[in-house]
Amino acid sequence: SPRVVIIGAGIVGTNLADELVSRGWDDITVVEQGPLVMPGGSTSHAPGLVFQTNSSKTMSEFAKYTVSKFLSLEKDGQSCFNQVGGLEVATTPERLEELKRKRGWATSWKIETQLFTTDECLELYPLLDRDSVLGGLHIPTDGLALAARAVQLLIARTTKAGVRYLDMTPVTDVERSNGYVTGITTPNGSIAANIVISCAGFWGVEIGAMVGLPIPLLPLAHQYVKTGSLQALAAPKKPVNGANLPILRHQDQDLYYREHGDRYGIGYYGHRPMPVVAASLGLTPKHVDEKDMPSRLDFTPEDFEPAWEASKKLLPVLREAEITDGFNGIFSFTPDGGPIVGQHPTLDGFYVAEAVWVTHSAGVAKALAELLTTGCSEVDLADCDLARFEEVQLAPAYVSETSQQNFVEVYDILHPMQPRESPRNLRVSPFHVRLQELGAVFVESRAWERPQWFEANAELLQDLPAQWRPVSRDAWSARFHSPISAVEAWKTRTAVAMYDMTPLKRLEVFGPGAADLLQKLTTSDISKHPDQATYTLMLDNGGGILGDVIVARLEAHSFHVGVFSPTALDYISRTARQHSKQTPNQWTQVRDITGGTSSIGLWGPLAPSMMNALHAPSIANLAHHGFCRTFTAGIPVLAIRLSHVGELGWEIYTSAEFGLRLWNLLWDAGQAYGIVAAGRAALNALRMEKGFRDWGTDMTSEHDAFEAGLGHLVDVGKEGFVGAVAVKGRSEGSSSRRLRTLTVDDGRSVVLGKEPVFYDGRAVGYVTSAAFAYTIRKPIAYAYLPGEVVDGAAVEIEYFGRRIRATVTDEPLKSVSARKERP
Ligand code: FAD
Repeated sequence: SPRVVIIGAGIVGTNLADELVSRGWDDITVVEQGPLVMPGGSTSHAPGLVFQTNSSKTMSEFAKYTVSKFLSLEKDGQSCFNQVGGLEVATTPERLEELKRKRGWATSWKIETQLFTTDECLELYPLLDRDSVLGGLHIPTDGLALAARAVQLLIARTTKAGVRYLDMTPVTDVERSNGYVTGITTPNGSIAANIVISCAGFWGVEIGAMVGLPIPLLPLAHQYVKTGSLQALAAPKKPVNGANLPILRHQDQDLYYREHGDRYGIGYYGHRPMPVVAASLGLTPKHVDEKDMPSRLDFTPEDFEPAWEASKKLLPVLREAEITDGFNGIFSFTPDGGPIVGQHPTLDGFYVAEAVWVTHSAGVAKALAELLTTGCSEVDLADCDLARFEEVQLAPAYVSETSQQNFVEVYDILHPMQPRESPRNLRVSPFHVRLQELGAVFVESRAWERPQWFEANAELLQDLPAQWRPVSRDAWSARFHSPISAVEAWKTRTAVAMYDMTPLKRLEVFGPGAADLLQKLTTSDISKHPDQATYTLMLDNGGGILGDVIVARLEAHSFHVGVFSPTALDYISRTARQHSKQTPNQWTQVRDITGGTSSIGLWGPLAPSMMNALHAPSIANLAHHGFCRTFTAGIPVLAIRLSHVGELGWEIYTSAEFGLRLWNLLWDAGQAYGIVAAGRAALNALRMEKGFRDWGTDMTSEHDAFEAGLGHLVDVGKEGFVGAVAVKGRSEGSSSRRLRTLTVDDGRSVVLGKEPVFYDGRAVGYVTSAAFAYTIRKPIAYAYLPGEVVDGAAVEIEYFGRRIRATVTDEPLKSVSARKERP
């Protein structure tokens, strides 16, 4: 097996060593700057509350695995998990609703929960103030991870299995040669390695700097206190530092609670963000103890004052207590709250697993161990992939601002469509000014400004035919939504509309090895039709979907490739680099041309007439998926006949300097055809009506092409592509679950995604995407459902605790499918 060095013996590093050694890897060294008995990182003082429910399925899967692993990790009859359960209380009506939504996620991710009335909360947790609590969510399998103990047991277990631990050994450099990691440097000498994994927690930025890798995490101090002894908590038979009561969250006031024997432990996220530079903490001393460790800063009592007042209100027993111990403990926050897991983009063999909570630690370690040993992980890693950030999102100022914002919002009720307020306007299309003039309402995604809808289209609401009129929505689904999207959908289906597609990633893949590389990475024969683009999939070794791509062969050795995520760019670039190293005369280069180009989607039944009026027959006459490079009114463009909305038309690309002119040209020409600018909200509804999937939600690495209903994109005659062996013999018929379209029976209840779906009274799946389908005037949703749930089956979607009836429907929706085309 490869020679592995893991940096850091916290809860992540030790779990990773354990997961690797249990998969048969036998040359593992863990290097730790602190003393092994108490290394002094975040794990050494973590109170270890594990609330498993998360809006992200991936994060909940990680947490579930941590719970099961720590339950089985035991010594002297005591495991490393005290399964006291979790209770999240609501003290505001909004939170009470939010707990219903959260219960939906839990059901979707198969975590058992119950919604509790005030009485039930009090029965479970008698110390609560009855007047404050409106209700709660009880999660019986949550509890307390004994993180420091788990680290010690994992060190003992893995040492026995042959893992070497070096303590008091700071890693001062990472050695590399020719794009590969070769080892690490310490004051005691070098250690050779083919794989180095940084599990250095909030020191990750410093380790990243050794290999020129900006790590988008910010170390922040977070307050935690312990009270003195409380009679109310003094129960016989409670282990020292133990707990009987459920762990408790009071998110309305940014607080959480656990017992430490007869004392309360209280954590607080409501204070000002307190960023820390890890390098300023100096070397970890030889002696570390509970009170004195690098990750523990002095308590600032004034920051805790509001928390103490709120705590005394929620838990009246605290009125008799006092805080006897407090500290500002350091751990990592990231721009989107997710961990950072993955490989360096250009240094092979260097990995990171950082910004990981104790809650997710064993799950992250398992996933990374699977990735290292088999090439793919069971759980989809997109939410925590190091490569999910765009370059601009790695800028220190961006990381600092957004991570602090993430700290502030950590317990807030966040709407799924809620845009970031700042920083904004980092990346805009060349025709941004036109979008602004039309009253675009932007949301931010990957630092791009993307129009959701255009206020200028409001005046067309009065012209909207009755069968296109939107229905009224409930207050939650009406947020960050406008009925104007109905106008934009109507115009796209009946006239013509322009969409800003610039933020979708475009790559130039070129070189003598480019064709072979793309053949290797995709499921279709991308060179079959020289004048046609190919819509195809990239799979991992296990057949899971890594992304969908559109490939157009512009010249023998040059391809235009549309991808939908930065992780796809990372994957293609890395593979190109590796292939080029192995066969230098068959090199391939990958360039991200997104920012240097612009893209307009021109779609609708009148689009061909409009193109003819522009005297652009080479575009107007393109066959399905055909492409051409031409001049339109003197502007050099590449046009591909493809559609994200299921209407005739093209994506038209030009370099950035011509973007504004191209917009002006199309806009002016479109006036005679009633053109509108349309936003992402309309696009999402239209693409769902047509049965088009979005990667990251409707299909991920946890799904194969057949389950996703994209089996037709796997060329049965093609061999040798990544994932080919895994998918051989699979078919839609052999899948035990399939992505299905649901239409909502009442015609008005719009859901937003991640809600559980019930069939025959059982939760059998969850909503991936949802929208109001304007064309059929009904809300629709996609959900993975077991194979036995056939067309016409009645199902229910749970939305804020309410069951909404829906029907499984064949796709694409019949009334939409006629004259329309697939992408
Ligand atoms: P660490 O435990 O920090 O381990 C990293 C290790 O790397 C350290 O031991 C460090 O010495 C070593 N290292 C760093 N640089 C080098 C180098 N150059 N050479 C060698 N070794 C190096 N999470 C929860 O899930 N639930 C909670 O209730 C919870 N409560 C928290 C309360 C507080 C007050 C704080 C601060 C954090 C809390 N967390 C909680 C978060 C959790 O503690 C951390 O996310 C987690 O412990 C991180 O584990 P780790 O292994 O990544 O990092």
